[in-house]
Amino acid sequence: MGVAGCLGGGGGEQETETETTTTAEESDDDHDEERPEGVSAEEFEHGPVPEAYRTALSQANEQRDPENLFTKEAVKFQEADDAVEAGLTEAGRDCGNCAEYIPDKNGDGFGACAKVEGYVDPADWCSLWESIEEAEAEGETGGDETEYVV
Ligand code: SF4
Repeated sequence: MGVAGCLGGGGGEQETETETTTTAEESDDDHDEERPEGVSAEEFEHGPVPEAYRTALSQANEQRDPENLFTKEAVKFQEADDAVEAGLTEAGRDCGNCAEYIPDKNGDGFGACAKVEGYVDPADWCSLWESIEEAEAEGETGGDETEYVV
């Protein structure tokens, strides 16, 4: 089931991830995304992510900048299967094979993203998806001016 927009939210294109730690449990019975234990729906969607991910490198060596991230809403973030069903992408493209993905570092099954705030499941997808090969080729030619259409 789709989860995009389940929290509503500002809809801004790039929002600042704050250092604020949310401890209150959200009332999120209608939220069907699995989350790591102890992580609220708010944290899951908007961060902050655990320290190990905050400024980590993605699998194509893009550094995460916690002050310059897209909201999940702004980039149509959802489960990859749903995105394929909706005709937004083709099968086989998900966060797990995206250049921006920062793989799980603590064994909870979730990673993070160099461009999008909050926790990221490797089986998710968003409109910024870029292949690792493509990103590495750009890196080799010195291009760091990727334009994203969101
Ligand atoms: S598909 Fe989007 S959210 Fe997923 S890793 Fe790539 S840029 Fe990040």
